[in-house]
Amino acid sequence: MSHQTGPAFPHPGQASAIRKIPFHRPSIGPAEREAVMEVLDSRWLTTGQKSVAFEEAVRDRVGSAHAVAVNSATAALHLILEALGIHSGDEVIVPTYTFAACGEVCRYLNARPRLADVDPVTFDLTAETIEPQLRPETKAIMVVHYGGRLANMEPILELARSRGLAVIEDAAHALPCSRSGRAAGTWGTAGALSFYATKTVTTGEGGMVITDSAEIADRARLMRLHGMSRDAWKRYSGGGSWYYEIEDAGFKYNLTDLAAAIGLVQLDRAEAMRAERERVAQRYGRAIEAAGIGALVELPSAPGPDEVHAWHLYPLRLNLDRVRPTRAETIDRLAEAGIGTSVHFIPLHLHPYYRRTYDYAPADLPVAAREYEREISMPIYPDLTDGDVDYVVERLAAILRPR
Ligand SMILES: *Cc1c(COP(=O)(O)O)cnc(C)c1O
Repeated sequence: MSHQTGPAFPHPGQASAIRKIPFHRPSIGPAEREAVMEVLDSRWLTTGQKSVAFEEAVRDRVGSAHAVAVNSATAALHLILEALGIHSGDEVIVPTYTFAACGEVCRYLNARPRLADVDPVTFDLTAETIEPQLRPETKAIMVVHYGGRLANMEPILELARSRGLAVIEDAAHALPCSRSGRAAGTWGTAGALSFYATKTVTTGEGGMVITDSAEIADRARLMRLHGMSRDAWKRYSGGGSWYYEIEDAGFKYNLTDLAAAIGLVQLDRAEAMRAERERVAQRYGRAIEAAGIGALVELPSAPGPDEVHAWHLYPLRLNLDRVRPTRAETIDRLAEAGIGTSVHFIPLHLHPYYRRTYDYAPADLPVAAREYEREISMPIYPDLTDGDVDYVVERLAAILRPR
């Protein structure tokens, strides 16, 4: 005989109907739909007033002096490095525990990404992991605010200052994210935001350079659209719209107004959506304890009281010395239960390109190599209900066994 009521968190092994829980589902409502229709009706589809308004809204939100809209965070990182004058022979410190974009943008400029290990708790660069990677050729440090929690910036900024290095913040996971009211992306020389489909604020594809430096912002503005300067005409005539001058060989990185219109709505909803992800994160913690698997996994590091955590990711770690099955099998069995997961990240130094080009071996950056083996990114997004989280944890508890 079956009962409708029961324990809040069913016992491991207790069957419940399969749900379909994707790894990610963007939160899109009627306001986003309306904003897109308005742009379509206006017939101005590419970069225009919506993009300018989106830049101003982001600038005001994060508290930077400038914001330059582009079509990805990858483009934003590239433009920042270009504006800093990074070139062939230079080196940039990049965490190995990150996405492909961080390393490849250095290669665009024929610079070397010098990979550094990360803190075992936060997955972020620290002054201690950066220090051994510094070389005479080092020009900049690229910090990733992993998962949406602010990296420990003060010691890194201090180290950078003492060596005369620029600090670039990859804030692709980190909106809204701050410590003591200071937003991710505004601590260093310049920051990059991502509005990719899976990110906390999305325009499908999109990104932004944020900086207090007028030089970096001006250069990024010029180079995001073919290096074309429209100010040139004004110098001679004070008017005209057809005339431009090519100041440099730029890129095609501008954001569309269709995307910017979605971004304006998403930005308004950013804090409400963040609060929902925080709810999900807290629910995971309680459900994992209640399911009795607290000793088999390690929960993500909790933010301090003065921190706003974006909770872009919920990186769970298996305590591999105490639990079976393997990470890979756990992921497969979750998938069989309809639950999508991911892994953030496969360290750059384990990938063929980096091994081949720079002769990396896994043990060169041992913390990232070790932690990667046991990480599973669980679903976390505003539409995920408490019931969904309980289901995910119930299935996880049915899979994990103490060794
Ligand atoms: C997603 C991501 C990027 C790239 O963002 P795009 O907007 O897709 O170019 C860069 N860095 C990190 C850490 C990311 O997760």
